[in-house]
Amino acid sequence: MSEQNKSIDVFISVSEVQQFLRCRRMWDFVSHNRQSLVRSGLPTLSLHSGTLVHSALHAHAQGGDPIATLKLKAAEAEAKAVAEYQKVVGASPASEELTNLNDARELCMSVVRNYFAHWGDKPVAPLEYLKTEIAFRVPVDVNIPGKNVFLIGTFDGIARSASGKRLWIVDHKTFTRRTDARYLIRNFQFVAYVWAAKSLFGDQVAGLLYDGVWMKQPVIPEVLKSGALSKKAIDTTPAVYLACLQELGLNPADYGEFISELTRKQLDPASSFFVRHEFMYSDGGLRTFEREVTAALRDMVNSPSIYANFRWEGCWDCQITDLCDAVQLEEDVDFLIKHKYKRDTYDTVKAVKALQPTQAKEFLDEHAGKGVATNTASA
Ligand code: SF4
Repeated sequence: MSEQNKSIDVFISVSEVQQFLRCRRMWDFVSHNRQSLVRSGLPTLSLHSGTLVHSALHAHAQGGDPIATLKLKAAEAEAKAVAEYQKVVGASPASEELTNLNDARELCMSVVRNYFAHWGDKPVAPLEYLKTEIAFRVPVDVNIPGKNVFLIGTFDGIARSASGKRLWIVDHKTFTRRTDARYLIRNFQFVAYVWAAKSLFGDQVAGLLYDGVWMKQPVIPEVLKSGALSKKAIDTTPAVYLACLQELGLNPADYGEFISELTRKQLDPASSFFVRHEFMYSDGGLRTFEREVTAALRDMVNSPSIYANFRWEGCWDCQITDLCDAVQLEEDVDFLIKHKYKRDTYDTVKAVKALQPTQAKEFLDEHAGKGVATNTASA
């Protein structure tokens, strides 16, 4: 048997590299290449909400009904979570926990409705979606005999420019805290996606369109005793304000200045409900990324030492703080795992393992001759 035949494929997702860089202890618990632990029972609300919004935007891009899809996905996720909770805990979830899930679903529906009220029926115009939810894998030479390492992930969307000559990776991000564009552009995932897309599709890839969605319901303006609508500064959108005026039969012309101010706020990434940035990377920046991600992947498959990384601002981004505490205090970690966790594999990993051939290659085949050139060397 040749050396090549003895090699094993190792799939490492972009988010897994981020976990490794953030905290090796977290990575060791949750990585599908390590312990692959997922908390049993009800989903984490922020992750659950992000998934629902993504499913709605994907459905719309496919010509479907975003709200109907969101409701369906929410119902499926809630039923699965409740059944799992009953199995693990032996009782139904507390009504407060179910209320939180319901609230999350309602917030997501409001956010999605406002998204389309804001961006319209062609939300990435002047770009045009070619495809959404495209799983990819790109080989990375980590120079370890017997290991074929692939960086994997899922593009939320690939869109083409109005000229049809450039491709943009579209990435939707729900957020509750804003991040300045100066820091966002250095986000590991965004650079990784552009690097992967250029590896697959070549220089026709222009960059990444960041599509940020604030997970907040616009405030409904107050109706004053006089019957007029309040002009008090609130976090709302012009569309919501205009709808309230219409409902009350008031003349928008009497509120022109206030509506202009609301419009100005929606154009400012510091206050808008919907934030867009175009991120482009130089060849030098992408070469630096390639060197660094190769080094990180090599470390990850090379039996690295495991240790924690507590940050001064806290571990709000960690889903396994109870396991971490147990390790730190030398308590019974196995007991916690047995009663609170299950071993699972993340959707991206399942999708990429099922690719025959990769969806990225299918995408290329599908769009060859339609303005999308192919670069099969890395697919
Ligand atoms: S709580 Fe913090 S230090 Fe502990 S595993 Fe999570 S991220 Fe790492």
